[in-house]
Amino acid sequence: MSESLKLIHQAKLDEAAKIAKVLANPTRIQILNLLEQDRLNVGELVAALGSEQSTVSHQLQKLRAYQLISQERIGKSVYYELDDPHIVDTLNQLLGHVDHLLLGEDHAGKHLPDCFHVEKE
Ligand SMILES: [Zn+2]
Repeated sequence: MSESLKLIHQAKLDEAAKIAKVLANPTRIQILNLLEQDRLNVGELVAALGSEQSTVSHQLQKLRAYQLISQERIGKSVYYELDDPHIVDTLNQLLGHVDHLLLGEDHAGKHLPDCFHVEKE
């Protein structure tokens, strides 16, 4: 084994796991996807998601707590945006990997065993 293997510091691991947990929610992933496309206020997100305003506000609060999104007041409305390149990249990498699973292909384009296949709707 290589002598130069490096471990991640515990505090950093804990924080990474917390952020992964915040990402581990379909509604929050959908919100990040929408905010990557445009800066939106709560009303616009509610309309796009077809969810209750209280639900959307709660999820926005969680995403903001870990600086996955930021907010800006414009006129009477508060707009949310995805302005952190790390999060944009993370979201796109995650969704790109999901595409691999849905297509039943790995990175080299080889087929994965059946147990890895995800049924398409
Ligand atoms: Zn992949």
